[in-house]
Amino acid sequence: MTGKASEYDAIVSLVKDHEKWFSESLPLVASENVASRGVREVLSSDLGQRYAEGWPGERVYAGCKYIDKIELAAIDLARRLFKAEFADVRPVSGACANLAVYSTISNPGDTMMALSIPNGGHISAGKKEFSGTAGLVHGLEIEYFAFDRENMTIDVDGTKKRLRSLKAQGKAPKIVMFGGSLILFPQPVQEIAEEAEGIGAVPCYDAAHVAGLIAGGQFQDPLREGAHLMSFSTHKTLFGPQGGVIVGKRRYADGIKKAVFPGTSSNHHLHNVAGKALTFTEFLKYGKLYAKDVVTNASVLAESLAELGENVIGESKGYTRSHQVALDVTKYGDGGVVEKKLESMNIIANRQLLPGDLQAGRHYTNPGGIRLGVAEITRLGMDKADMREVADILHQALATNKTVIVRKRVADLRKDHQHVAYAFDKSDAYFYERA
Ligand SMILES: *Cc1c(COP(=O)(O)O)cnc(C)c1O
Repeated sequence: MTGKASEYDAIVSLVKDHEKWFSESLPLVASENVASRGVREVLSSDLGQRYAEGWPGERVYAGCKYIDKIELAAIDLARRLFKAEFADVRPVSGACANLAVYSTISNPGDTMMALSIPNGGHISAGKKEFSGTAGLVHGLEIEYFAFDRENMTIDVDGTKKRLRSLKAQGKAPKIVMFGGSLILFPQPVQEIAEEAEGIGAVPCYDAAHVAGLIAGGQFQDPLREGAHLMSFSTHKTLFGPQGGVIVGKRRYADGIKKAVFPGTSSNHHLHNVAGKALTFTEFLKYGKLYAKDVVTNASVLAESLAELGENVIGESKGYTRSHQVALDVTKYGDGGVVEKKLESMNIIANRQLLPGDLQAGRHYTNPGGIRLGVAEITRLGMDKADMREVADILHQALATNKTVIVRKRVADLRKDHQHVAYAFDKSDAYFYERA
């Protein structure tokens, strides 16, 4: 016996169990990815124990001489990767980055335009009545973009009309926040930005999901299309540690700096800043190829599922141009039932509200859809042929109850995909359980 509390060993062993499970599963949650070993090692460095409140060179505490260099490098790399005048790499998450953006350019009681949740919006841009960050924490009123369900994107004419009508009612938005959590296609930033500015709104883009595709030049480029600020998570298609970043025009730099510290955090997570910096170097080298492979894989997965008879959303526009594929699974019950069934077969994906769900009496726990993402399996080295196999396995999982067979097929597929690709070192994806 080691003399350790039994809870201590039990927790360590749960972490190992988790790693083992994921090494044998199909990780299809669209907001997740896997960081390289180098990135994960700095996450466990001494940086994770330190404080560096403030901006490099203007810290509140001593002990930051190396931390400042790391953070300045991260800022410089983020600016290069996103071709931005300004970057703040401190936000501890995408939601915190959004809150800093809201605080910089709006006041409580102001209006923001964003996507509704069934149309793909995220709760961090949600109304107070749903405990959305924008409404609950910053007191914003939320108005929705007009949405084109057939084409699964923002309706340009309808949105412009809505902006003009809000202006006429004295409720002109201060922020027009593009982006979303269910995001299959590029959004019409260019088409709407001018109208938004004309009524005094700042066009912004929440690239939490698609930051990696943007950095790799494979989606859209919001800062060139008229967005002034772009906030994002660093762990979805951008395969870094969990965290957030804000990039954009220099004129917002002072406001954002204060909104991040002390406005929405005291200390930020310095191990993550180092992990973000390493991720940016990986992305500058491999991002273009990775993003291209992700978009291709999503497209092949969507087409293969459609050929197998699954109800893939977005057919009129070729199903997807991002890392995501959305399925209407109402023929199998609902997204809640399907999510649990898939999990029991070691396929990890999440249920998804789809446009029209609320009108049909469905809600968040039993929505009509399932959202699939290929960012992580692409980083694990899967290619087009693997996508056809993933589609076939998914189809069998959805249409039959052959749990043992599906689990075996998943484990077989994963046997050759235990390493992180698009990285400087071909690193183990699951080293903790082997330690
Ligand atoms: C995931 C997501 C967020 C929140 O990001 P976290 O890093 O989880 O805080 C914000 N906006 C959108 C559109 C998202 O999909």
